[in-house]
Amino acid sequence: MNLMPEFRCHRPASLDEAVKLKSGLPASRFLGGGTDLLVNLRRGLGEPSDLIDLGGIADYASIRRADGALWLGAGVTLAELARRAELAADYPALVKAVLAVAGPTHRASATLGGNLCQDTRCIFYNQRDWWREGNGFCLKYKGDRCHVVVKSDRCYATYHGDVAPVLIALGAEAAILGPGGMRRVAIETLYREDGASYLTLAADEALAAVVLPPAAGRRVGYEKARVRDTVDFPLAGVAVALRREGEAIAELRVAITGTNSAPLLVPTADLVGKPWDEASAKALDDVLRKTANVLRTTVTGAKYRRRALHRMTRSLIDGLWNPAAQA
Ligand code: FAD
Ligand code: SF4
Repeated sequence: MNLMPEFRCHRPASLDEAVKLKSGLPASRFLGGGTDLLVNLRRGLGEPSDLIDLGGIADYASIRRADGALWLGAGVTLAELARRAELAADYPALVKAVLAVAGPTHRASATLGGNLCQDTRCIFYNQRDWWREGNGFCLKYKGDRCHVVVKSDRCYATYHGDVAPVLIALGAEAAILGPGGMRRVAIETLYREDGASYLTLAADEALAAVVLPPAAGRRVGYEKARVRDTVDFPLAGVAVALRREGEAIAELRVAITGTNSAPLLVPTADLVGKPWDEASAKALDDVLRKTANVLRTTVTGAKYRRRALHRMTRSLIDGLWNPAAQA
């Protein structure tokens, strides 16, 4: 690991102040718990002039109910989310995903905002400076070519967050604060399929909160494949929200992670109104194959990750469709 680069640190008292600071400091970065950003800086991945530490902002780390929705401040730690009774009761799959992030010491300081905005990852990027330099760096940082997709003009580094897919499956929104005020977007539109520029946030915008709609009779689940059960990013992950009416699928939202440069909502509209049977499973398999773009960005092979994704998706929906059969 490198020494930490030199930077100035600011501790604004409000998110408005943080956003104002960011507008005036183009080479600055927001800091949540630092479990992603500081590790990357120690690897020489970035040289921000200033860090804007959001940890001192009281209401940024609050959880409240408003207009029938649950507002989770982006500064709430993952450990706190896992402790909250209202989440355990109404959103158990979200708590499962939160508890699948890293280890307990990471979750004690890691924030919801930092988790959603965490950097994309690649075996040619999450390496020490001298290692990357030996390979001529790469498109994502300091270099001019991609080692994963040679001749590509974009980076394919993968988004490996655990929490975003569940929020997407639940139909949650991101509340974003910028100099012009607050705006709300569906969580999936926070991201774009570009490993080097994976967030759609403007440089002077901050994620303020996540707005969770009522669970509304959906059955929701999350599964991830990883090498080490104790601490590991998802090699592939899938979240499903299903509403069943009799023998028909009334609603099906499937979101994937660990496969593309963004967590993605899989198009499933064609399955609504149909039963969950072999034909539907085959149709979903096909659409999953078209959506997921698993490449050689992790040590574990792409073929295994693809197969794990398909297998987890099938068994997750089987279980949500007929929980009694799996009990
Ligand atoms: P930070 O490091 O503080 O920030 C991450 C990024 O988000 C930075 O670019 C920062 O500028 C930006 N940011 C932070 N807050 C905001 C905001 N409000 N608005 C806009 N941008 C913001 N993650 C997983 O999902 N699953 C895992 O299994 C997992 N395993 C890990 C294992 C190890 C060993 C390590 C070191 C990390 C792991 N992580 C994992 C990544 C990381 O720990 C988590 O994603 C964590 O939740 C990041 O939150 P943070 O508050 O520490 O983010
Ligand atoms: Fe670099 Fe290519 Fe990996 Fe992106 S996908 S980090 S450009 S090697």
